[in-house]
Amino acid sequence: MIPAAKPIIGDEERAAVDRVLRSGMVAQGPEVAAFEQEFAEHVVEGRTCVAVNSGTSGQHLGLLAAGVGPGDEVIVPSFTFAATANSVALTGATPVFVDIELDQFCLDPAAVEAAVTERTKGIMPVHLYGHPADMDGLQAVADRHGLGLYEDAAQAHAASYHGRRVGTFGDFAMFSLYPTKNMTSGEGGMVSCADADLERRVRLLRNQGMEKQYENELVGLNNRMTDIHAAIGRVQLTKLDGWTAQRQQNAAFFDANLEGVVVPPVAADCVHVYHQYTIRVADDRDGAAKALREEHGVGTGVYYPIPNHRLPSFQRDLDLPVTEQAAREVLSLPVHPSLSQDDLETIVTAVNTVVRAGA
Ligand SMILES: *Cc1c(COP(=O)(O)O)cnc(C)c1O
Repeated sequence: MIPAAKPIIGDEERAAVDRVLRSGMVAQGPEVAAFEQEFAEHVVEGRTCVAVNSGTSGQHLGLLAAGVGPGDEVIVPSFTFAATANSVALTGATPVFVDIELDQFCLDPAAVEAAVTERTKGIMPVHLYGHPADMDGLQAVADRHGLGLYEDAAQAHAASYHGRRVGTFGDFAMFSLYPTKNMTSGEGGMVSCADADLERRVRLLRNQGMEKQYENELVGLNNRMTDIHAAIGRVQLTKLDGWTAQRQQNAAFFDANLEGVVVPPVAADCVHVYHQYTIRVADDRDGAAKALREEHGVGTGVYYPIPNHRLPSFQRDLDLPVTEQAAREVLSLPVHPSLSQDDLETIVTAVNTVVRAGA
């Protein structure tokens, strides 16, 4: 069976964890500080980064630090992982769900424009599957209405838009370091910050609102990353470029060899990092996934089968036709860096057979 995702953890990660455990200092300390610095330099062109215990925490703290709260609205896609809207809702603000564009599955700037009200505080695009959202289009809407821009870059480490890395556009951006993401720290998240004020608030909120011990300045959480996790993340960071190149090569092989399916188009002057390689199967997607698994040993994923606005946790009566079509048709093939040439060929043959048979 070829798995849909496969975290890669090696001897170097184990040695790094051992080094921290032997030091006797395991909570947030020098490893976290070094990881923040290295991630900033390597991923977001030197923008200051703050490490936290999950991507969701990073998004939540970023929003709080940006002043988002009760009475505010933040425009988000419905076609994403629920963490995007959860982090908005947990600030007391209201997530406003809008439609996406079908090609890249990211926020449609025209739909965003149409959803702006006097309560709108910001826009949170998701660089879904590792493809950048339309940042020029979204920035124009944000500028026109004086809105904040917050990036959900959970899936898009080192992707770029018009020559500029994702995570350098928004007031803040969040990267997830969950095991199935393009790199991991076990669990973890990184917040890249546009300015020193926002950075300071994220640091305070991460640690009970304290800079000086026991002189709490605001009401905060404990969302600290441990040095154990940071040590794993630092090793993974050194491998990110190689893994990304491997994902891109795997995707290029699929692009060249899949027949009769809609392969994921890359927008002009964008670098896609293929967290997922997602095709659309118009006719019986779930049947195709079952046949791939049972007849060909190919695991796949559906991200995401239920749009957020229809989840029991949100239940909004909205008509988002492109979102509905994507939820019905998307199928993510394995594209992770541990695939062999044999695996790639198996996947291509399987998809070409199954999808043609279904058509
Ligand atoms: C993974 C993910 C998150 C949340 O990150 P965690 O580290 O799991 O908390 C948020 N948004 C998107 C789009 C994700 O894929």
